[in-house]
Amino acid sequence: MVIKGVGIGRGAAVAPVLHMAPALPEPADEPRDPALSTTSEKERIAAAMKKVQENLMQRSQAAAQHENTKEAAPILAALSQMAVDPALTTKIDDGVDSGKTADRATYEGFSSFEQQLHALGGYMAERAGDLRDVGQRVIALLTGAAQPGIPESDTPYVLVAQDLSPADTAALDLDKVQAIVTAEGGPTSHTAILARSRGIVAVVAAAGAQGIPNGTLVAVNAATGEVIPDPSDTEIAQAHKQNEAVAKAATLRGKPGALKDGTLLPLLANVGKPEDGAQALKFGAEGVGLFRTEFLFLSSEEAPSVEVQAAAYEKLLAQFPGKKVVIRLLDAGADKPLAFLTPEDEPNPALGVRGLRALRVHKNILEDQLEALARADAATEADLWVMAPMVADAPEAKYFTDLGHSYGLKKVGVMAEVPSIAIMADQVAKVTDFVSIGTNDLTQYTLAADRTLGSVSHYQTVWHPAVLRAIKMIADAGAAQGMPVGVCGEAAADPQMAVVLAGVGVTSLSMSAASLDAVRAELAEHTLAEAQEKAAAALDGAQYKPYEPEE
Ligand code: PEP
Ligand code: MG
Repeated sequence: MVIKGVGIGRGAAVAPVLHMAPALPEPADEPRDPALSTTSEKERIAAAMKKVQENLMQRSQAAAQHENTKEAAPILAALSQMAVDPALTTKIDDGVDSGKTADRATYEGFSSFEQQLHALGGYMAERAGDLRDVGQRVIALLTGAAQPGIPESDTPYVLVAQDLSPADTAALDLDKVQAIVTAEGGPTSHTAILARSRGIVAVVAAAGAQGIPNGTLVAVNAATGEVIPDPSDTEIAQAHKQNEAVAKAATLRGKPGALKDGTLLPLLANVGKPEDGAQALKFGAEGVGLFRTEFLFLSSEEAPSVEVQAAAYEKLLAQFPGKKVVIRLLDAGADKPLAFLTPEDEPNPALGVRGLRALRVHKNILEDQLEALARADAATEADLWVMAPMVADAPEAKYFTDLGHSYGLKKVGVMAEVPSIAIMADQVAKVTDFVSIGTNDLTQYTLAADRTLGSVSHYQTVWHPAVLRAIKMIADAGAAQGMPVGVCGEAAADPQMAVVLAGVGVTSLSMSAASLDAVRAELAEHTLAEAQEKAAAALDGAQYKPYEPEE
């Protein structure tokens, strides 16, 4: 039976499965031997925590020495600090004071912090697994159990685990580990982040993978997110073919995005924080097509100051001298709520005060952000373009564009995420400098299907001809006015869709850095005429499979 998960990257691998050593059993909750004093138990725990901290720190330093493990260094360093967190130590000591054994008190201390992280959700919840890993290491030292970790093998294998700790991922011997498959973890878990940066074939969130017996041959396909136990000869051949294609695609890095006949289609990267700029450049991005600025706001109680924002924008822009960098203003609301900005009483927040609507209600935030962008622009050599999210029509586009220009920003544009902006595209193109199409939202609003709802996820496809026609209306209006029209939603990362978008007439594509190779390679296989032919068919709905509910 094929096991489905979330693939990281596009590679494939075929090798036998080896499971990660199982987690340590939960220490029994029984009273401590009275011969063991509170003080000596606390000291024993402190010594074990210190040892784990030093070990993680050493690994961090070792990881920093090598190019392909460099990214693990700060993660390991942060983990090492978890092992000496004073609040955690106090919690564990309290357990010892109440008569618990050292291993049980440690277990409970780590578990309670883990639960707190889980309760916070999102990124913080994904750090809970990291904390559990540190706790397991400390408990192993206290009980004399073997340290949890990677299995030993002389031959290549596919590593299967519940989840992998950053320490484990950083330590993987890539001559042996052909792929990693985890039952837990999401696309932004550390396993995924490190797998992506080290180029490891990975499938995460593959529930059921734990049931594959050790030694079973599996084909792991990151492009489809599939893990196939006992693959057929054809499936094995397919995996090898795919790897050849991935390797070939990587050879085009450094070349500009272009169709077979030389028609240029710049390929840019979507970036979530300034540090991601390096990854974008590594994969040959010609600039940044979408810098989501929410990261600056999400973790704070109030909006960051102009200075803090300017420093962050400058950090990104400085990495792209002479290159285009599109920075989007804060998109608060709907799937990205902000405590100090988003109304709490909206029954349908995706249809509420989000994006530019929220910024106009909180004009000080809008003005501070534009001021910070203008300062960062003045201090750097990148070609800065600035855009607003959730813009509904030409008057809103004009409002934002004029405001941006008044801050001295040269290229000011809008995102096309609401169908009304496509319907009014001819007017919009006359009042703004560029449009970037956010296909994630444009799809949800065109098809009235909440992008966060699994029950309507079948509508979340840009292959629906209604979405493609909306894109075409914008591209046509752009062409008529000489206005650039990019696409920066997930759709741009689908190589086949990228060809269709080229045929529809968009002028740039922006996607996660790891998707650039495959899109660049696919575009190079088709002429503009061929792309236009594919676009015509897709606009007719040829590629769209209507949803058939199960009887
Ligand atoms: C989009 O809607 O396609 C987009 C790029 O913005 P976000 O995913 O941040 O809403
Ligand atoms: Mg959006």
